[in-house]
Amino acid sequence: MKAIVVKPSSKGVEVRDVNEKEVQNFGRVKVRIIENGICGTDREIVQGKMTSARAPQGRDWLVLGHEALGVVEEPFGEFKVNDVVMPVNRRGCGKCNNCLMGRADHCETGEFVEAGISDMDGFMREYYYDDPKYLVKVPKGIEDIAILAQPLSDLEKSVNEIIKVQERVYWTCNDGTFSCRRALVIGSGPIGILVSMLLRSHSFQVIVANRREPTEIEDQIFQEIGAEYFNSAKGYTELKGRFDVIFNASTAPPTVIEDIIPFLNYNGVLGLFGFPPSGEMKLSFQEIQRLSLKGVAILGLANGQKPHFEEAMRHLSQWKITWPKTTNKLITRTVHVDEAPKVLSFKEENEIKVKIRW
Ligand SMILES: [Zn+2]
Ligand SMILES: [Zn+2]
Repeated sequence: MKAIVVKPSSKGVEVRDVNEKEVQNFGRVKVRIIENGICGTDREIVQGKMTSARAPQGRDWLVLGHEALGVVEEPFGEFKVNDVVMPVNRRGCGKCNNCLMGRADHCETGEFVEAGISDMDGFMREYYYDDPKYLVKVPKGIEDIAILAQPLSDLEKSVNEIIKVQERVYWTCNDGTFSCRRALVIGSGPIGILVSMLLRSHSFQVIVANRREPTEIEDQIFQEIGAEYFNSAKGYTELKGRFDVIFNASTAPPTVIEDIIPFLNYNGVLGLFGFPPSGEMKLSFQEIQRLSLKGVAILGLANGQKPHFEEAMRHLSQWKITWPKTTNKLITRTVHVDEAPKVLSFKEENEIKVKIRW
């Protein structure tokens, strides 16, 4: 079968034939891949820049891909032929309590594996076999945008976690929702857009910041979902007021964290999701003390598991109805698998999500 293959820590990517026996499989449901999504992580691996990328034991190459949509070809368990499914991409270490309870997002050994990233073959191949426990059913009517459920699952987990942590204070507003809470999202890429949609769905006031004017598409999206856009090219001082949530959805230099910390409200949350490939930041003792006196929580946010994929599917179904213009704009290009090396090697202007079709 054809697969998209990389050699971790060296640059390059190729579409080549692999033997069914030499790639990893994980269960008895045969899934034929319909499409894959690509994101910054895939591109970092292809550029040889992702230090945590690793091939499965015993070889130097890896099947790429952690965002996938497929159709069941050989049924097993609750999965029937022709069911459209999405695989959960991070799998547990098999040792710690969190992993054993289906929450590899909180793995305690750090020995989890990630499809197409570390120690586990990914989903950019014609077909593979999986365990029902790692498959999520795609509801009817959202097949065109369902690929977004993978990145969105990470954000569902993130926003859930922020809300959970804030149970430490009286955080809901006098209408019982979060409508009086202000969230600042740093970055207006696919992650910035998806997390803004999610925060709006939870009634937060949302301001999205990037160091340039918004594109026409961004303008239309933020208008429809009711988020404000802020050009942060000259810093954040013109932003009025403080924020209850600041969510870093960018790969901007770490100094951006230094710049925005003063804008955190009392009892606020700084959500760390996006990271630059390198760089340094400094926090003085006084600044740390100020954060501490303000009761700020700094949360490391990564990875969604099956419950979050399911929530992501529900939100995508809802958003197709409430924000149809936005959901129509999120997939900016679909290419055939032969063009995959090209789209994996560089990012197009105005790109939001690119899909590879098998
Ligand atoms: Zn990704
Ligand atoms: Zn674990």
